[in-house]
Amino acid sequence: MAGPGYTDTDLRWLREAIELSRCSPPSDGAFSVGAVLVSGGEILTTGFSRERDQHDHAEEVALAKAAEAGLAGGRPEAGLAGGRPEAGLASAGLAGATMYSSLEPCLRRLSRPRSCAQLIVAAGIRRVVLAWREPPLFVPGGGARWLGEQGVTVVEVPELADQARAINAHLIPG
Ligand SMILES: [Zn+2]
Repeated sequence: MAGPGYTDTDLRWLREAIELSRCSPPSDGAFSVGAVLVSGGEILTTGFSRERDQHDHAEEVALAKAAEAGLAGGRPEAGLAGGRPEAGLASAGLAGATMYSSLEPCLRRLSRPRSCAQLIVAAGIRRVVLAWREPPLFVPGGGARWLGEQGVTVVEVPELADQARAINAHLIPG
């Protein structure tokens, strides 16, 4: 059922992101997350945790694929050294896109210099829909708040949080 700020269509894409998170290679030190980048009612790209590299985050993979496909404009080749999307992503090409993620995009990360929240802003994405707020287990959360401060519309869908969380149940104390 649609709630404040989101539609049944949002629920459908977010469920896809949650399903994708199941593809993540298991890890005891990182969440399994799925991300779906949608524009104009179609999936542009997808990503899941550790999809290409053990340090990959789902949103990062989806954005890297968008850059590789030329969807993000800018200079993708400049941003992909070592598989890291960097400043070359910035453009208006994704301004109408929504990033669906099973987990709140990270604000801080240990393994790479730029967080998913920073990459989302750099890519020009203006709307993020998430299922589950990041518990402060590995790094502090706060990505959703920070994205909001950057002018990105952040929509939380609490009714799907349990599904996103269940895939990570082994990581959560208690
Ligand atoms: Zn991340």
